[in-house]
Amino acid sequence: MTGMPDADVLIIGAGPVGLLAALDLSSRGVSAVVVETRDFLEPPNVKCNHVASRTMESLRRLGIAAEVRAAGLPADYPQDVAFRTSLTGIELSRIPIPASGERYTATVGPDTTWATPEPPHRINQTFLEPILARRAAAAPGVTLLNRTRFHSFAQDEDGVTATISDLDGEDERTLRARYLIGADGGRSAVRKQIGATLSGDPVLQHVQSTCIRAPHLYGLMSAEEPRAWGYYTFNPRRVGHVYAIDGTGTFLVHTYLSPEEADDPGSVDRDAAIRAILGVEEDFSYEVVSKEDWVARRLLADRFRDGRVFIAGDACHLWVPFAGFGMNAGIADVLNLTWLLGARIAGWAEERILVAYQAERRPITEQVSHFAMSHQQKLAKPGLPAALEEEGAEGDDARRAFGVAVHDLNEPQFAAAGLNYGYSYDASPIIRYDGGTAPGYTMGAYTPSTVPGCRAPHLRLEDGASLYDLLSPGYTAVCARGAQVDVLAAAAELRGIPFSAVEVARLPAEYEHPITLVRQDQTVVWRGAAPTAPEAAALWELLRGAV
Ligand SMILES: Cc1cc2nc3c(=O)[nH]c(=O)nc-3n(C[C@H](O)[C@H](O)[C@H](O)COP(=O)(O)OP(=O)(O)OC[C@H]3O[C@@H](n4cnc5c(N)ncnc54)[C@H](O)[C@@H]3O)c2cc1C
Repeated sequence: MTGMPDADVLIIGAGPVGLLAALDLSSRGVSAVVVETRDFLEPPNVKCNHVASRTMESLRRLGIAAEVRAAGLPADYPQDVAFRTSLTGIELSRIPIPASGERYTATVGPDTTWATPEPPHRINQTFLEPILARRAAAAPGVTLLNRTRFHSFAQDEDGVTATISDLDGEDERTLRARYLIGADGGRSAVRKQIGATLSGDPVLQHVQSTCIRAPHLYGLMSAEEPRAWGYYTFNPRRVGHVYAIDGTGTFLVHTYLSPEEADDPGSVDRDAAIRAILGVEEDFSYEVVSKEDWVARRLLADRFRDGRVFIAGDACHLWVPFAGFGMNAGIADVLNLTWLLGARIAGWAEERILVAYQAERRPITEQVSHFAMSHQQKLAKPGLPAALEEEGAEGDDARRAFGVAVHDLNEPQFAAAGLNYGYSYDASPIIRYDGGTAPGYTMGAYTPSTVPGCRAPHLRLEDGASLYDLLSPGYTAVCARGAQVDVLAAAAELRGIPFSAVEVARLPAEYEHPITLVRQDQTVVWRGAAPTAPEAAALWELLRGAV
């Protein structure tokens, strides 16, 4: 490497993806410099409202889950989704989702039976990001460079040199690192420089999002219905979504424009649309906190890497965030990448291990993008019954039937077990496949499996500990009682690969083999009986990217 590097990894962008990259690298003893144009703790737009279970599991590993779960809506505020004729109108149906204070004990709701130590959490990005930013600022080996702009990079055999400048006037200067991650969002300069192109469906729908402050709205809602985190509203005047941001009267209102309006989105009367969604008259007043007009898309980069430079999060994929899998998919990308980089920088993996990033993540992001788009297209044609707002039996019948329909359509996106746990890596160079076929998955449905590439099914040990809390930073053998792992352990030690074993008295049926080898990100990479020494050696060589 020419000269001393400023860090092992340079991260462009301190959104949720860049910040989690820094935190995860720090947990692995890898240094990182994060370059961000926004000031430290400068709030992002009021966007993402949902931290998925799998992201919460990663936050738990990093020791942040409890702080995140305590933030956002009050602990007793229901995280339900209610379907109504308007925010203050008639309730049609509801998906129950526990308040954060009851999250580990509640038994009512479609996601309360999930096999996980960390169920999802509904929290706006404006609460999440400051937690991540403060943690990153305090993390060993992490340097945050706020009010700093990344311009370009040059890479050579040993590393990457990035050109940056201080927004407050300093001339351009350079930073040197072994690797660079572009987590610089949808307009990513890093993506452009590595020559990646986005393709897919550039325009699905135009959306006006407005964050409003209106504490007196709660007083206009029926006292018989509990509060909710999300409200989907349907009436012939306007279809929209409303999210409670803080539980005290700040709401995010999404106005979905029709295909006819898409030709001239600027002509849509924002205030009238908000009033139709809220179900309030002209004399009702609210304060606009912020507004953002955006286009729902489905776009995916053709490559996630060029040499030592990688892209992650919105930099490599953009899609309508139905099922809450925009940010969460980006976090899954980057934590896959930082595990690989950690292995490489620690020295036990070969450079080739980095090929796994695109091989594993790109097919998954493609799948998620289609799930999200397909849901958007179903929602875009809600087929409102004519009698939806009528009084009397006909109206009651129409509301009942429509309430069931929208509930059933949307439950899978708000309890997306499939998106969280169902995907599998089926073409990775660092997984030893054995001919088993991974079960299929849908947005809402997941079948536990130990086929290599799948998520190791969660289990609790006799003392109640979560298996996931016991996974080593490298690999963990989940073993039936008496399974022999000495040979596997010795071959790992010889190569400096972090390895541990967890013996389980009664393995669930999905664990079909005496030994299931699991990566720290919960991916099954091999399963079988005790290997011989040559078999163990060959396995570790494959896993560390040497084959
Ligand atoms: C209305 C809305 C609702 C959403 N809801 C959800 C949801 O419920 N669930 C979900 O998972 N996702 C949701 N999303 C998507 C989610 O907000 C994004 O996927 C997420 O913010 C992406 O994170 P990121 O870190 O990749 O990018 P960003 O959050 O865009 O962060 C990129 C960062 O890079 C910085 N940057 C860019 N260029 C440079 C440069 N040249 N130099 C220095 N810094 C730079 C930017 O300032 C920014 O801070 C929603 C999005 C919208 C618009």
